Amino acid sequence: MSAVRTTCPYCGVGCGVLATPNADGSAATIKGDPDHPANFGRLCVKGSALGETLGSSGRLLYPQIGTERVDWNTALDHVATGFNKIIAEHGPDAVAFYVSGQLLTEDYYVANKLMKGWIGSANIDTNSRLCMSSAVAGHKRAFGEDAVPICYEDLELADLIVLIGANIAWCHPILFQRIVRAKELRPAMRIVVVDPRRTDTCEAADLHLPIKAGSDVMLLNGLLAWLAQNRALDDAFIAEHTNGWNETLAVAQASGSTADIAAACGIDEAKLIEFYQLFAANEKVITGFSMGVNQSSSGTDKVNAIINCHLATGRIGRAGMGPFSITGQPNAMGGREVGGLANMLAAHMNLEQPEHRETVQTFWNSPKIASRGGLKAVELFDAIERGEVKAVWIMATNPVVSMPDADQAKRALEKCELVVVSDCIKATDTTAYADVLLPATGWAEKDGTVTNSERRVTRQHAFLPPSGEARHDWWIICEVAQRMGFQDGFDFDSAAAVFDEHARLSAFRNEVGSGRLFNLERLIGMTPAEFDALPPTQWPALNGVPLSGEGSGERLFEDHQFSTTDGRARFVATPARAPAGTLDAEFPLVLNTGRVRDHWHTMTRTGRSAKLAQHRAEPFMEIHADDAAQFGLTHGELGRLTTRWGSCVARVDTQGGSPRGSVFVPIHWNAQFASHGRIGALVNPVVDPISGEPEFKHTPVNVAPFVARWYGFAFSRQPLSAAGAGWWTRITGAQFTRYELAGTETVDDWPKFAADFLGVDALSEQNPANDWIDYADEKAGLYRAARVIDGRLEACLFVAPQASLPARAWLAGLFDKDVLDPADRKSLLAGRPAVAGVDAGPQVCSCFGVGRNTITDAIRKLGLTNAKEVTSAVKAGGNCGSCVPEIRRLLQEIAASPPIPEPVIDSADPRISASEASLSSVSTSPQPKEYS
Ligand code: SF4
Repeated sequence: MSAVRTTCPYCGVGCGVLATPNADGSAATIKGDPDHPANFGRLCVKGSALGETLGSSGRLLYPQIGTERVDWNTALDHVATGFNKIIAEHGPDAVAFYVSGQLLTEDYYVANKLMKGWIGSANIDTNSRLCMSSAVAGHKRAFGEDAVPICYEDLELADLIVLIGANIAWCHPILFQRIVRAKELRPAMRIVVVDPRRTDTCEAADLHLPIKAGSDVMLLNGLLAWLAQNRALDDAFIAEHTNGWNETLAVAQASGSTADIAAACGIDEAKLIEFYQLFAANEKVITGFSMGVNQSSSGTDKVNAIINCHLATGRIGRAGMGPFSITGQPNAMGGREVGGLANMLAAHMNLEQPEHRETVQTFWNSPKIASRGGLKAVELFDAIERGEVKAVWIMATNPVVSMPDADQAKRALEKCELVVVSDCIKATDTTAYADVLLPATGWAEKDGTVTNSERRVTRQHAFLPPSGEARHDWWIICEVAQRMGFQDGFDFDSAAAVFDEHARLSAFRNEVGSGRLFNLERLIGMTPAEFDALPPTQWPALNGVPLSGEGSGERLFEDHQFSTTDGRARFVATPARAPAGTLDAEFPLVLNTGRVRDHWHTMTRTGRSAKLAQHRAEPFMEIHADDAAQFGLTHGELGRLTTRWGSCVARVDTQGGSPRGSVFVPIHWNAQFASHGRIGALVNPVVDPISGEPEFKHTPVNVAPFVARWYGFAFSRQPLSAAGAGWWTRITGAQFTRYELAGTETVDDWPKFAADFLGVDALSEQNPANDWIDYADEKAGLYRAARVIDGRLEACLFVAPQASLPARAWLAGLFDKDVLDPADRKSLLAGRPAVAGVDAGPQVCSCFGVGRNTITDAIRKLGLTNAKEVTSAVKAGGNCGSCVPEIRRLLQEIAASPPIPEPVIDSADPRISASEASLSSVSTSPQPKEYS
């Protein structure tokens, strides 16, 4: 079959994908689309591994009411009747939708239309509230409209790129690679990273400012005042195209001297001034920002503090310059365009403006229109718990994991009268609370459009048939709407028809200069074939303007006309405020949450990929080594994090870039993949007062060792229940599932525990040729067992009284073999190869499966000095490039450290010979400590 053009479903970069389905349509080969202007053929590691996330395993395949399978008619009638009943008894604000930036624009459009135009409430909010609503609010305050001014090409044209709170090396890797390549071609380009953590993005930086968490506004106010003091302003631009300058400058000047600001930000004054001088000296400046800015109780002010500096220097609306909100989700922008947030109307119109409400209602010919803002995400789950919202329909998102104070979301859903969940995955932490489950089509099956961070609308095409009875989200919503009695507004027969209405609304009463830049006029009236062939197109897409180049809409505000009533941009005074949570003796550290390179959101898709699961295999807490020592934590062992809202357990990592006083924990792990890894349950639910975005980056936390009675890990070709361990995490492998374990209960009979845990009895009955190998050292508290069937390794379990256990990579490799060779068999229970150097170590390059030991060995032995040489030697970094920053870090670490002598492994040690019998009362040699 030929390749189908579609879009990556992960981050807001919006890379084009070529998917080639296999002959029976069950899987596909994935490549980057060389013609897509976001990525020009490249994909990061997550995009490259999309083929591994397909298939019907784990999918929600048919509708359910409770645990009972029902047909679609029954399920849809049940939802419609339930919503109508609650609306009739309690009014329209007693129901709500909680939707997602994973939805396509067409899905989002009809969901918003149903809630705001027919039900008559604005109680539709989205998980985009959690990631970019501060950017939306900041744009609206400054520009009068939620509009990202720049295009990706500007990143290559800029002379200075400032990245604030944005680890794009991990979270937006293709943009990062575009920047790195631009700098390679133009070494004079400067990159400044502002981030409390030293992230992989810093590997490309000329200057890293590790400011104190939450001090961004102070830094930026100081910049504004410094620019004014040093006459680096564009006075004409300020006078002719802005309002609010004097008040804003006065607030900025209250920040004090550069020494005061440097002290408040916790950085060196000379570095602060270096940054200010760079900003002043370079006309072409992009300031990119992401979750480190948005996810804050002062997120909107942070956004405006950035925009203020660009307005003050007139650095907007021209090539190579401007503020740049880097969105998290694939269609967060599309959701913004259709009004998917509770405080917005469709087509960039405002709920609070009566003429906008009238415009939308007239266009829709709807019986009602919401007259005030609805409940934002945190407010919504509070209202559900209080019983004020009695029915909620959750679409394509997992709030039981992703919300702050996520246990509150659980409590709310437990109490809610009617919980409907439409999703493509069957077992998520949220589907467990559903009264009705509706199977939605997944990425490979969906058809419609998404919009990326540079306002580029791209088609998403289906290339696989729907799994089971799954249906498109827009279809499910329209069916429910019609069954609620709203036939007229919801009789769409295709995604193309929905898109056409969306485009028409964007152009309705929207003459040029009327104050709404969002306009898809040129895309109205496409035939199905034209919609199918729609090339990636930026908005505004106006009739009679060029498709690219000046005036095309590539970048906004070229005419210095903004979407405010007077056409002027607004400076917004942003007094610096401390984060909401106060540190004290009980909770003395800052909990900072974020993403890792190879996972996406709550792992419902990336957790299925063996390629993606290995890089950061477990929930971890990255903490400075000095803090770890102070709190009794040891690298590689387990630690407990506790806040006022909850507690979790994660592997301690002192080798990352967290500064003193801060602990970084990833957001991804859920109850399907870890027993105690749901970090959302610990996050302070305080929100920004304007945007309603929660403060995910600053929750007071305490940490302590998690003391287990034993530690272990298991590999198994068959899925196991890890419930017997007090703490566990599950890691997908190519031929196995791996479990990391820690026990809170003493185990008296390890052979019995191992047999139960590995399901040995069941396997024995199936195959009389089973081999059971085990090894016990009661004195040392060690136990190891393996199951070999017909010469093939089936499962193994290793336990010890300390977290120090054999490295996993070599053992994992044994599962690739159909028959263990004698040397492997002999070394099996030693957990390490007989020949030194075979263990690849924790994975760095996910594309080629290259481990850290392989890379560091090559660097040392071959004297490699740069990432390209490493790629030539061991392939790592040679495909998607996502691991190149990590390779650079390894090169730096090795350059700064003396050579480490080769470890001597005695494979002839009789104590580690894997005999077929139990080897009792024998101690092993000390093992190298390695935990992933
Ligand atoms: Fe997908 Fe990676 Fe591109 Fe983001 S950068 S859209 S995750 S391929």
